[in-house]
Amino acid sequence: MRHIALTFVGAFLLAACGSPEASPPAAPAPEAAMPDAKPAAKVERTDEEWRKILTPEQYRVLRQKGTERAFTGEYWETKTDGTYKCAGCGTTLFASDTKFDSGCGWPSFYAPVDGQKGTTIAEVRDSTHGMERVEVLCSKCGGHLGHVFDDGPAPTGLRYCINSASIKLEPKAPAAKDAPPAK
Ligand SMILES: [Zn+2]
Repeated sequence: MRHIALTFVGAFLLAACGSPEASPPAAPAPEAAMPDAKPAAKVERTDEEWRKILTPEQYRVLRQKGTERAFTGEYWETKTDGTYKCAGCGTTLFASDTKFDSGCGWPSFYAPVDGQKGTTIAEVRDSTHGMERVEVLCSKCGGHLGHVFDDGPAPTGLRYCINSASIKLEPKAPAAKDAPPAK
């Protein structure tokens, strides 16, 4: 059952985000540097603990590599200033100033908060559903965030296609002076 559901969302994702011929890769995929194995998570919780602290949708996406339906998530068209944190462990992952309207129905960013080759986000090769993709995970808790594609805008040319369920927006405080950095 789960396999069928995932196949469906995989096909949906391909359809929504464009076929390979519609958006040719701008650069060769960094396959040589791409690990197949998930990196060790620094936040370890049991499955039972994750189920308790996450909503069912967050659990399905973050811990079971689910994908929310396009155009249904909380943040796909959000333009609010702020930072996006991991819904699993609170690590700041993305800033709103790198968010762009990709038209594909999921929140899209051209870079992680710590830059194109940042460390907050881990990348893993994902060959499931008959596609070669690069999965992105929170490097702290190992939560599944989405995938990164190389059809994004300047300056990186990357598109981090992220599930709303995996992230939490912390809106920027209005005109607060000497505000401490978001944590
Ligand atoms: Zn996390």
